Amino acid sequence: MPELPEVETVRRALALELTGRRITGVRGRSIAMRRPMNVEHLRSVLPGRRFAEPRRRGKYLLIDLDPPGSLLNHLGMSGRLTITDSSAEILPHTHVTLELDDGRELRFVDPRRFGLMVWLEPGEEATDASLAALGMEPLDPGFEQLMPPLFKPRRRPLKSLLLDQQLVTGIGNIYAAEALWRAGILPTRHGCSTSLVRLERLAGEVRAVLEEAVEQGGTTIRDYATPNGSFGYFAIQLAVYGRDGEDCKRCGKSLKTAVIGGRTTTWCPGCQR
Ligand code: ZN
Repeated sequence: MPELPEVETVRRALALELTGRRITGVRGRSIAMRRPMNVEHLRSVLPGRRFAEPRRRGKYLLIDLDPPGSLLNHLGMSGRLTITDSSAEILPHTHVTLELDDGRELRFVDPRRFGLMVWLEPGEEATDASLAALGMEPLDPGFEQLMPPLFKPRRRPLKSLLLDQQLVTGIGNIYAAEALWRAGILPTRHGCSTSLVRLERLAGEVRAVLEEAVEQGGTTIRDYATPNGSFGYFAIQLAVYGRDGEDCKRCGKSLKTAVIGGRTTTWCPGCQR
């Protein structure tokens, strides 16, 4: 499932490939996704508009167009945006295709349909239900100062707090586990039983691991714009995620796994406390 760094990498790829291009046509069929995708509506508003620089909010992409308006996109569990020649084979689960003025196409493929692609008129963004519920951006200035007082009063495991998109947006299972390991803090520890100093350390590691992953993603940016482009997951060296039972890279103890707040979590019983 794409997390902030993967979405940011897709954003950069789209900026590189699409900015200035004009939409000439829309193909697809309306289906139920995270929110209903209405292809007829997209066909009535998109043709003739040009791509501006896309933006990101959490794991959402705001693909701005001119004349103004935005395509709100979420990749869900399995979604992918690809830019291909119009002659390229159409993959199964291609739900919508935007035809571009250079003969290429932007295609939204999503086998599991947890993603979304909807049109927002100017001004609708401010009141959009999906966007309004999002918490703070971990890459924004001041995150290290803002996160600790937000987590401190809460009687819930830090792992769950990090995944709560209404508190902090963009973090998923992978980077939450990595940040907690880097900070040397147990994922089961509650916000209220963690000192502000340690919460600041955690916030710093959240930012650091996300920035590293964005940087790594950026090195494979061209791949994202190809039909078989992968997401660049695991581009960074993961210390705990997916390494249950292996040795901790810091202290050598065997890594443990359990379910916390409904999500699988791996941590080191030796150096996380
Ligand atoms: Zn360890």
